[in-house]
Amino acid sequence: MKYKQVFKNGKVVTEHRYLMEKHLKRKLRTDEDIHHINGNGLDNRIKNLMITNLKEHPKYHKKLREIKMSKVMTEYISTEKLAEIYGVCEEVARRWCRKGKVDCKKINGRWYIKKDKENKDEQ
Ligand SMILES: [Zn+2]
Repeated sequence: MKYKQVFKNGKVVTEHRYLMEKHLKRKLRTDEDIHHINGNGLDNRIKNLMITNLKEHPKYHKKLREIKMSKVMTEYISTEKLAEIYGVCEEVARRWCRKGKVDCKKINGRWYIKKDKENKDEQ
């Protein structure tokens, strides 16, 4: 993930840590981590920043991934589903994706195909 950086006292620091320290009027401890609530590491508005710690921080990202994935699944279908709709095997569906024959995107190594309005839920 990309973060904005600032130059502070001769050192390069991440802007979100710098802004949070300014907001709290104290130094952040090394075990304190800053999480970007909306998942955008460049959105350093104070309301988008929260203090967490190294242990808890990954949990927020897991949650964000789950939310993102559930959004994807309302607009996209899996290759398994595509194969089922067209009566082909999943390998064929994956090949269509690789060759760009369908409107799709790859997420975590799996293909997801944009739901087709005409073919919506096969009917
Ligand atoms: Zn975070």
